[in-house]
Amino acid sequence: MQTELQKSLKIVFSTLEEKEKFEHASRLIGFDEQTICPPKAMENQGKTIAFLTNQAFKLTKSPEFISAAENLFARREELNLPECLLAEGLHRDYLQSKNITSELDEKFSLILNQAFVDWLNAKNKADFSLFADSLEKVRWVNLKQIELSENSFATPYDHLLQVYERGITTQDLDFCFDACKERLIPLLKKIQKSPRKISADFLTEFAAVDAQEKLAKKLLQKIGFDFSRGTFSTSEHPFTDGIALDDARLTTNYDEHLLMSNIFSILHEGGHALFEQNQPAEDFVYHLTGFKTLGQHESVSRFYENRIGRSREFCSQLFEELKISFPQIFANRTAEELYDAVNLVTPSLIRIEADEFTYTFHIIIRYEMEKMIVNENVKIQDLLKIWADKYEEYLDIRPENDREGILQDVHWASGFGYFPTYALGNMYGAMYFNKMQEEFDVHEAIAQSDLKKINHWMQENVWKSANRLAPKEWIKNITGREFTPQDFLDYLEKKYSEIYGV
Ligand SMILES: [Zn+2]
Repeated sequence: MQTELQKSLKIVFSTLEEKEKFEHASRLIGFDEQTICPPKAMENQGKTIAFLTNQAFKLTKSPEFISAAENLFARREELNLPECLLAEGLHRDYLQSKNITSELDEKFSLILNQAFVDWLNAKNKADFSLFADSLEKVRWVNLKQIELSENSFATPYDHLLQVYERGITTQDLDFCFDACKERLIPLLKKIQKSPRKISADFLTEFAAVDAQEKLAKKLLQKIGFDFSRGTFSTSEHPFTDGIALDDARLTTNYDEHLLMSNIFSILHEGGHALFEQNQPAEDFVYHLTGFKTLGQHESVSRFYENRIGRSREFCSQLFEELKISFPQIFANRTAEELYDAVNLVTPSLIRIEADEFTYTFHIIIRYEMEKMIVNENVKIQDLLKIWADKYEEYLDIRPENDREGILQDVHWASGFGYFPTYALGNMYGAMYFNKMQEEFDVHEAIAQSDLKKINHWMQENVWKSANRLAPKEWIKNITGREFTPQDFLDYLEKKYSEIYGV
């Protein structure tokens, strides 16, 4: 019997290695598509990606592979831990895609690729109508995937959540977001009435792109990004991709009048890239690296962006760098002015440029709309008005055009259910920040520029177990406590009451 198990392991591993080659190639082309690919070549390039991912998909559809993988799942108690985790993951994927034929999978890929092309075009022209048909098709893809899946969840939207955030339900999210609304809305009103006026106008003064690029590199070095095992580039929407072992890539976007947007993108994407660069080698061997969730990933990126990047201690070091790189802007400023300015609370339209305090509202709006799109079959053409109404309801502002409204994010071109992971990331990160703080003074480490100490703690406590535990178990494993939004809300209340004296 032992030999049968060995045979199954051999089939599974050799298939996954082959599959990884196709996926590796498609990730590389995908990175190219979002960075340097000429616009007219995108559609064709997308077809190549669809072909490669379809080849990968087909490999997992072979009866030999399925029976070997299901055999491993049935006998998982006889396997070692990483093999057992792999068997469980393959079984989840199997139930998810059991009824999706390779023709249908290819059709999905082509629709999603076309949606990306249409979104980019529509965003450039600030015209939602150029994307509406594609968005309808994206919804069809998601609903079809749900219909064909053999996993079952409370609502269709719960189903999509599982793809990104295993074990988190709409019930969890409703609870978290209600708590956010209850505590943050009154505080936002107090902040807006506060006599304390913070000026951030100097942050939009002209900052040359070449100097921004040099600073971006320095910041990546400072947080511990390893340039021998990663690279950075530019794209319309900053992102990070763990392309393969020893190859983590991130992008930023330079705007001469949005210096801080580049800096915080670098810290955010740099956080994602650090996570990718510090995956346990064993997880590559056992094909587990794709098991971590987006919320786990976002917790890390937002930890580097906000808990480190927007801390008083980091701002004071950043200020010294900025004085050297952009003396015309910073020579007559102070570190404290920079700290206040990067923590200015001001309701705004663009999520990725939102301040840390109002950010959660951008997610709540998208979450509420995603539930309407997926569960309630809302009309796609009504989304424009719903979007604007929700911005008015929560932040008291309305977009003037579709680019600064519904077209700002790329995510819906690939489906629904992603956005809540950003807010969950903030909540996980706040919980493990508090745990880290019990072990050493985190702010002191930032002040000492000792990010190695922080990275080491992250490696041991946060990164090492992420592929192996679903988020709720993972956060309990790190902190010894059940998942809660309270740490995040406590942190926001304390920090922003102090800044605004309210
Ligand atoms: Zn991110």
